[in-house]
Amino acid sequence: MTGAWKGARDVPQCSACLRPSVIHLREQDRHLCAEHLAHHLHDRVRSTIASRCMVVQGDRIAVALSGGKDSTALLRILHSLLSSWDDVTLVAVTVDEGIAHYRDATIRSAERLVRELGVDHTVVTFTEIFGKGLDEILAGSNERACSVCGILRRRALSRAAQEAGATKLATGHNLDDEAQSVLMNALRGDLLRLVRDSGSPSRDCFIPRIKPLMDLSEKEIAVYLMVRDCFPDLPECPYTRYALRAEVRSRLSTFESRHPGTIRNLVAGKERLSAAFAGMSIGAEIGRCTQCGEPCSGTVCQTCRLLQDLRS
Ligand code: SF4
Repeated sequence: MTGAWKGARDVPQCSACLRPSVIHLREQDRHLCAEHLAHHLHDRVRSTIASRCMVVQGDRIAVALSGGKDSTALLRILHSLLSSWDDVTLVAVTVDEGIAHYRDATIRSAERLVRELGVDHTVVTFTEIFGKGLDEILAGSNERACSVCGILRRRALSRAAQEAGATKLATGHNLDDEAQSVLMNALRGDLLRLVRDSGSPSRDCFIPRIKPLMDLSEKEIAVYLMVRDCFPDLPECPYTRYALRAEVRSRLSTFESRHPGTIRNLVAGKERLSAAFAGMSIGAEIGRCTQCGEPCSGTVCQTCRLLQDLRS
């Protein structure tokens, strides 16, 4: 045993080799070292991409890169998986919402990563697109922060992806995020969203969105980054405490620790529901917003309605 491993005598060995493990995968009852964890996660992302036809030849994939851990892992994993595809290009797009004491640090982290990987990077700001940053738009009504931010950021990301000439927009949503969304939709009584297939490339945007990390847990992603020494240690958004998602996240993580498998069961149940409704016309037909031309289910899209409210 090498000197570096002596301190790890009590750590279980990797199920695939003799190295100390860094994670226990409960569902498979396997311990994995850093190297086998990376292989395992890359294989699962490759399989998610293939089974859902997320990437095709000729694609130019814009990775939504906030600089936080999920988007950092997404860009690193896609960069590794897609580098052997001659005709698929990766670019990174970042939205600066204008959130003081938060976004500057994450943008610096994003810039370091794209420099390291040699990936083209486009940054767009709320101020250039909407005339004001989020702090200014909210003007103290912090309880609305995440719903306003979510709607505007979706538009800003589409704009950035279009500017980057992308054919797909990849986001870093993981399994925990998916489970949180299922529960949030249920709590809001939004049954249409609950039965929609959120895993396949979406058609309700100019640029289809894909979620290659949707099968990986938050913990797997965090350990993957930590053992590679590239976990971005960043401040938390000051508006997080107002978010329903933060509360749902904390409760789901309690459920998961008391009843292991809850998160995966919730997402699997949603997928069965979506499959049962597949091919059925759910909700209004997707048309075009009469103001901006973006796809939407009414005459005026959610973003244009919000912008009108903010102006009035
Ligand atoms: Fe936007 Fe809310 Fe996320 Fe902050 S926590 S970046 S306000 S969605």
